[in-house]
Parts: sequence; structure tokens; C-alpha cells
Amino acid sequence: MPNGPQYIVIHDTGMTNDTDNAVGLNEYIHAQANKKDGRVASWHFSIDDSSCYQHVPTDEIAWHAGDGSNPYLAFYYNTIYKKECIGGGNQNGIGIETCINPKNDYEMTLKRTARLVAQLLHEYNLDCSRIKQHYDFSGKECPNVIRNTNGLWESFMLDVELEYELIKIDSNARLHWTIDLPNVINYNGKKTTPDKGTKVNLELNILSENDSFSYHYNVFVKGLHMKDISKKINRNYISDKISYVDGEFTLSIDNETSTLVKRKLNKNAIPKIKKIE
Ligand SMILES: [Zn+2]
Repeated sequence: MPNGPQYIVIHDTGMTNDTDNAVGLNEYIHAQANKKDGRVASWHFSIDDSSCYQHVPTDEIAWHAGDGSNPYLAFYYNTIYKKECIGGGNQNGIGIETCINPKNDYEMTLKRTARLVAQLLHEYNLDCSRIKQHYDFSGKECPNVIRNTNGLWESFMLDVELEYELIKIDSNARLHWTIDLPNVINYNGKKTTPDKGTKVNLELNILSENDSFSYHYNVFVKGLHMKDISKKINRNYISDKISYVDGEFTLSIDNETSTLVKRKLNKNAIPKIKKIE
């Protein structure tokens, strides 16, 4: 890439087979590269809920953004999708395929992708405005699930911000959660509506090489039968402000108790990147 990576370009596979995971994409990209008359599509990373493969070095150009050889910051009109687009996706963008298939936990895939993106931003000294969707460069409806799920892109971006902050503290910093009722709030941040309003106790440990921080939260999860809960308890828990005691970021939640949980629960969300093969 002429001046090193300038963008991180998010895709999803938009496929439905069980084998459309990171291993499957790794095999596909190799088979394609070995064909004499094959297509030349390529991208840098394939990631799913348990694996992450790197196919192309991050400073080499790959072909995934659908904007041809348009240079950095150029605008062009995409005649296929009839849209004014930014250029430079292929020439300056690191392409990440997030894998979708019926056996994949896509929420976990996105948590892991957030960590990977944060690592790349940190490595190349880029801010979050450099995270783009494939759509931005061509008009293609990609990443499809993110684009068609209300709030998912925003939630993903918050996860990236959080991971970025953690890396700034210490590149080895990790989050570890302990949850007393994982059947109500699980470690992916998924919330199950309980029968009755339920208080869940969470302990967050931020672990770094030299230090560790511990925070305790009580989260009130509304039940199906809220009339069983006294107004007093309801008000007390729901109006609790939850924030970090110190650190560079503050989170507060009112009724949106799930926001914090969704953003923060990424135990195991650490991509182990396999070598370029
Ligand atoms: Zn795409």
C-alpha cells in the first residue's frame, strides 16, 4: 500500500453453509489463488467465533472493496450500484471478512473482530473514523447483517472503541467477567428475559501485565411480569449509574442496562491469528 493502510474495511460473507467459516474461507482463497483463470478477489483476514486467519500481509493490496484501483480520498460513481462512493478501499484498506453461518455465534464473531480492528488501528495509528463498510466504497449491501440489523454497527463501533482504550492501557489488557446468573446474562452479553425482574451481579476484572482492576455491578434485568417487583426496588436499580472508578472511559446506564453488558462482555473475544499460510 502506497502510504500504509488507511482504512479497515468490514465485510460479511453473506453465506448460509456451515462451512462458511474462517477455515472454509482460508481453503477457498487458496483454491482460488491456485486456479490459472480464477477470480482475483482477496482480503486480509477471515474471522469467526473461534478462528481468525490472515491471508495477505496487512501492507499489501488485496481486492475486496469493489472500487477498482481508485486512489485514497478519490470519489467516483459506481455504475453497478449507482452510488457516489469513496475510493481507495482496495489500494489502502485492510479487508476483514466476518463469517456468517448457521453454526456461528455472530455476536461473538463481532466481539472478536472488534479486538482485531482495535489492534490494527493501534498498529497503524488510525482512529475509528477509518473503519468503513464495504458499502462505503461500492454501494454493495455489505456487511449485510450489520447493515440490516438496527444498532449493530453502532454497537460494534463501541466495542472497537473499548478495545482500543484497553490496548492503550496495555496491549495485553484483557477483560474478564464473572456473572452470578449466566442464564439471565451470558458471557456474550446476551440477555434472556427472566420471568420476574432479576438482579444480576457482575464482576469485571481488567487484567494487564502489571495491574488489575476490579469493578462490581448490579444490573437489574426486567422480567416478563414486572408488576411483581416493587416500585422502590425497580427505581433503585434502574436508576443506578454505573461508571468506572478511574480509567479513561466512563459508562453510565439508566434504563439501558443491557448496553454496558453488551459492550463489555467479551471474555474469550481474543482473536488468535493464525500465520499467513
Ligand atoms: Zn464485502
